[in-house]
Amino acid sequence: NKPFSNENPLEAVSAETRAFLQAKHKLFIGGDSVDAAEGGRRDVIDPATGKVISNVADATGKDVDLAVSAARKAFDDGPWRKMKPNERMKIIWRLAELTDKYAQELAELDVLDEGSPYFVVKNFYISLAADHFRYFAGWANKVDGTTMPVNMDGEWHVYTVREPVGVVAQILPWNVPFLMLSWKLAPALAAGCTVIVKPAEDTPLSAIRFAEICREAGIPDGVVNILTGDGKVGAALVEHDGVDKIGFTGSTATGKAIVRASAGNLKRVSLELGGKSPVFVFPDADIDAAIPQVAESVFLNSGQACTAGSRLYIHEDVYDRVIEGVAKYSEGLKLGHGLDESTNLGPIISEKQYNRVTGLLQSGIDEGASLVAGGDAGMAGYFVRPTLLRDVTPQMSVYQEEIFGPVISAMKMTTENIDELAREANNTNYGLAASIWTSDISRAHKLAARIRAGIIWVNTHNQSDANMPWGGYKQSGWGREMGKPAMDMYTEVKSVAVAL
Ligand code: NAD
Repeated sequence: NKPFSNENPLEAVSAETRAFLQAKHKLFIGGDSVDAAEGGRRDVIDPATGKVISNVADATGKDVDLAVSAARKAFDDGPWRKMKPNERMKIIWRLAELTDKYAQELAELDVLDEGSPYFVVKNFYISLAADHFRYFAGWANKVDGTTMPVNMDGEWHVYTVREPVGVVAQILPWNVPFLMLSWKLAPALAAGCTVIVKPAEDTPLSAIRFAEICREAGIPDGVVNILTGDGKVGAALVEHDGVDKIGFTGSTATGKAIVRASAGNLKRVSLELGGKSPVFVFPDADIDAAIPQVAESVFLNSGQACTAGSRLYIHEDVYDRVIEGVAKYSEGLKLGHGLDESTNLGPIISEKQYNRVTGLLQSGIDEGASLVAGGDAGMAGYFVRPTLLRDVTPQMSVYQEEIFGPVISAMKMTTENIDELAREANNTNYGLAASIWTSDISRAHKLAARIRAGIIWVNTHNQSDANMPWGGYKQSGWGREMGKPAMDMYTEVKSVAVAL
């Protein structure tokens, strides 16, 4: 790789990635690489430059029919479900090894597609994805049932088994593309399901690269199918009677549309949607340690994370100190191309999202919040500076709406009453995550118990592990990704009762 230059960012990537970008990408259906049935193509744009870097096939409803048939056949007749769980485990484990082997390429593709800094993508997101495949490989041979004591005299023998739910369509978001693919695919494959993956239209590249990885790992034909295309492809999958389950991550509005459209065959639906997660900083916290982490809880991935700690409550005793610290931290972050080693923060994914983020930010100022740091970066590409708004009130749209950009809305906390704070935390339609910064362990647990959210962090934020369930209350979604609960989402329970 040559050193990074703004004039020609692609010179900084490996020869393999450069060749990949220039290849004619196709859909992956039934183990074959095929053109879209109607011949459609779609450009891929680097959000840090706004320039076209690759071109992919653009699927339509016809391709959805073909992919569903392939997945259906592989499920009903194919070897995956019938394979010994130990064999399935080995193949999923190979997906992990190949993710590690091709980590540089996968990271380069996600950086070019989504914009995050290379060191974050490679060392965290791709490495977490490999862990994720490993963790769920381990579940492949541990999906067990139980026996039930229905009658103690030996008249009955009753037991349960867990069976794969069937053909699963996985609709992915554009944030952290390869990690999201692994979150969705690994438990579905471990359960014995067959899958159609639809990456987001803005970030298709690492999913296309994954098709080759599936071949190399020995995934049987039709078990994983990959369709690149826009929301219409997602909608066709959701309506398709040959699909047994939808796994979706994205906006709450699209999540609701999916619930309505999936009613035809009452397919199973799991949803990982938006959030507006509160962060509480108490005066007894280690404030110097909290400041950078509270800032990063939003600035990581340029705020494009469902669990971003975007509502920051700071106790009045430390309000000015934390505001000053976060503002200083924000001003120290360098915006730039994700391939540039000196970059701390990348762009927003697209022009559409850039307009949305800057529009919401301006509405906060218009409604009376004060801009302490950040704002529009005024650079080529879709860059927004890490931004801190203070004196935000619950009536403002920056308090209520998921911004999905690097914008913190800060408020002064004038009480330590747990009931009042919990009411404040729960004062949105979302319920995904929260963090509590304090050295008082009782306070931390009491508040954790009262917040209606799926993930509570204490003295940390955004930490995850394949073993730790992830998902939301209220309008943040249905079901849990990761951990054992993810296996439950991809299996059905069957009771077998035998009259002896
Ligand atoms: P989106 O929810 O519309 O898109 C996510 C995925 O759903 C994409 O693959 C898209 O092609 C597909 N899709 C779109 N319409 C569909 C439909 N009717 N049926 C089935 N699939 C469909 O998200 P967006 O418009 O790209 O982003 C808008 C907002 O969504 C963001 O500002 C952010 O607030 C939120 N978002 C949240 C997450 C998250 O992790 N929770 C991820 C992405 C976006």
